[in-house]
Amino acid sequence: MNQELLLQGANELGLSINQTQCEQFAVYSALLKEWNEKMNLTAIVDDDGIAVKHFLDSVLPLAHIDLPEGASLADVGTGAGFPGLPIKIVRPDFQVTLIDALNKRVKFLQAVCENLHLSGVSCIHGRAEDLGKDKDYREQFDVLTSRAVANLKVLCEYCLPFVKVGGVFVALKAQEVEEELLAAKPMIGTLGGKVEQVIDAPLPQTDMLRKLVVIRKVAPTPSQFPRRANKIK
Ligand code: SAM
Repeated sequence: MNQELLLQGANELGLSINQTQCEQFAVYSALLKEWNEKMNLTAIVDDDGIAVKHFLDSVLPLAHIDLPEGASLADVGTGAGFPGLPIKIVRPDFQVTLIDALNKRVKFLQAVCENLHLSGVSCIHGRAEDLGKDKDYREQFDVLTSRAVANLKVLCEYCLPFVKVGGVFVALKAQEVEEELLAAKPMIGTLGGKVEQVIDAPLPQTDMLRKLVVIRKVAPTPSQFPRRANKIK
């Protein structure tokens, strides 16, 4: 992992990364590369790519959205931990739950958390549409995040049930999100959400623009949601 690029980028974002956090990112990167030789975790394995397209991209919400101290955050479809794990490294005060449907990825996440000596992280194997009905997870989180999992309409049905009323769902989306947003709006309202902002978030050290769709939970999600996976699709 290119540490200099990571620190420069974090500085551009107004985020500070101390020595311990820098070492945690380095260990995370080394484990990502090592495990990726045995299983499919990511297509991005070069040192610059890991620093920018995984780590800096993941922490963009922290640079643009004011999230409360000690927030509970869940990351749905986290894969190899993005964006939830870099967020946890930069904000150790958060209680983070990483959720993925593939158990081998969850095993990787558990190994990373152990090696990084992180506390306050749970790695959960399960599908969003099942856990979103479970009272231990439903409407339990201040913040939900998700990157590269589904189109916004489907994603909202996966994610909004987890958010407490008053909390937020932040979807990390690509530049051309407008059409998706238009298609998702009626469902967002039905699920108890309200689009608060769509933030243009330039990715440091690149010419890429990330769109952060910020959806506030303004009412409880009706009990029939989330529906079963085939219904949602
Ligand atoms: N968020 C990570 C990232 O940006 O690198 C991973 C993205 S990967 C393309 C999509 C991930 O979502 C996969 O790890 C997959 O197992 C998970 N996933 C897809 N549908 C899911 C669901 N319904 N519930 C939980 N995880 C899901």
